[in-house]
Amino acid sequence: MSNKEIADLIFPNVMDVKEILKKYKRKEKIMVTRYAPSPTGFTHFGNIYTAFINYVIAKQNNGICFLRIEDTDQKRIVNNGIQKIIDDLKKFNIIFDEGMIDEENEIGLYGPYRQSKRKEIYQSFIKDMIIKGIAYPCFCTEQDLETIRKVQENNKEEIGYYKKYAKCRNLTNEDIKKKILNNEKYVIRFKSAGEINKKITVADLILGKIEMPENIMDIIIMKSDGLPTYHFAHVIDDYLMGTSIVIRDHNWFTSLPIHYELFKVLNFPIPQYAHIAPVLINDNGTIRKLSKRKDKEAAISYFYENGYPVDAMMIYIATIVNSNFEEWFSIKNNNNIYDFKFSLDKISKSGPLFDKEKLNNISRNYIAKMNANDLYNNLVEWAKLYDKELYNLLIKYKEKSIKILNIEREKEHPRKDYCCYKDIKSYIWFMYDELFVNPDYELKIDNKEELENILTLFINNYNDETEDIWMTQIKNICNKLGYATSNKEFKNNTNNYKGNISDIMLILRVAVTSKKITFSLYEIMKILGKKEVINRIEKFLKHIQ
Ligand code: GLU
Repeated sequence: MSNKEIADLIFPNVMDVKEILKKYKRKEKIMVTRYAPSPTGFTHFGNIYTAFINYVIAKQNNGICFLRIEDTDQKRIVNNGIQKIIDDLKKFNIIFDEGMIDEENEIGLYGPYRQSKRKEIYQSFIKDMIIKGIAYPCFCTEQDLETIRKVQENNKEEIGYYKKYAKCRNLTNEDIKKKILNNEKYVIRFKSAGEINKKITVADLILGKIEMPENIMDIIIMKSDGLPTYHFAHVIDDYLMGTSIVIRDHNWFTSLPIHYELFKVLNFPIPQYAHIAPVLINDNGTIRKLSKRKDKEAAISYFYENGYPVDAMMIYIATIVNSNFEEWFSIKNNNNIYDFKFSLDKISKSGPLFDKEKLNNISRNYIAKMNANDLYNNLVEWAKLYDKELYNLLIKYKEKSIKILNIEREKEHPRKDYCCYKDIKSYIWFMYDELFVNPDYELKIDNKEELENILTLFINNYNDETEDIWMTQIKNICNKLGYATSNKEFKNNTNNYKGNISDIMLILRVAVTSKKITFSLYEIMKILGKKEVINRIEKFLKHIQ
């Protein structure tokens, strides 16, 4: 009985490999990279990092980057997982030239771009391999594999399905036919020609040339559900889709000898590889991977919820992608990261360290440079999703809100209080009467009468026409009540004064905002207006009674 008969029995209806090559193989020769996630419903910070590298390398070399969905592990798939990946990447302006564009649809000539829809393509190649005698069905049960493993452990041999341990290699085609007709469960394995102790040299654009042991394992290429394993799908897809550089997580690096052997037996040219080390974090002195389980920052959603501007995130990501980016950025002061030429050989071999402080700084500077209108619009967009109360106020008091956001902004040295949109409310809430209901005044009241004197004088002479006039009124209060009008003056003649102008300012600030520290008090009062300032001071005076 021939291999062909077995192959026909297993795959009666698949296309001929030649037809597949004609129909599905990319024709044009250009740089092609790809991002190939599994739709698990969780976008890790490292996913954006990897996707960005694939995207930017293609973009900057006149190439294309496509999105392939790797959904062959049906257990890990979640509803709307594809849409989630696409939406998350879109937020970072990573938009692919080809591939899935939503849960169901795709663009591009070399699809399907979703592995579960490519079953027949993989099976055509597997059928061909069975005919050629380089793939075979394996009927071993869990139990059988366990027995093999025990023997190998006892003999201190390499664990796995290979050479003499690959029992199903020895089945005759008659045995195979009988088992299949008997409905026995099977997988398809690749028959490796690799030799124990032989080495191959693999090449990686980030890690360089490295010697590794040749693959000897008869790995599974098709699971019992008819879908391929990662290794096989990778080789078939990246060949047909014309991937010229496989840029992927460095977890896959140890599998490279398997992939080299598969490319070789299939007669496909080996693509270039670039394995990216994971993003790391310093956990109290221990350097480890940024972890979904341990670090809230591992979830990309964390950054949306907190409202980090996407462009600031991208600048940060650029700093960890290429070590020479930061210097370029500090010289050019250019927020368009695509003006910088990224390269694979400047990617960290051991993995970049995620540095929250650096991200916060970049983001702080980025927000500080926004004009008030843009900041307002961005804040509205964020608050709409994450803070309904703030959103309503921003919409109700648009003009006032823009003025608030413009305090100490749009100037050469703007304030840098906010590192993300979520921070903003804690700096500006008191500007809205709706939130200034029962403020928690940050002042210990020990001299009620003095406070009354100061505040009454202030109310009676209130004038905010210009900052100078306003300041003069406060200095007048100092003079009247025996406070120094400057720090210097106070320091030089402490005994002559009750206190200092900063004591008066503090009292005014707390009365009007409840807080000891705020941005410019003059601007706060100017925006609130005379009536509201006086209301607030009266409210404070009542509070201290
Ligand atoms: N689906 C694989 C993963 O999520 C992709 C690896 C690759 O890029 O080839 O790890």
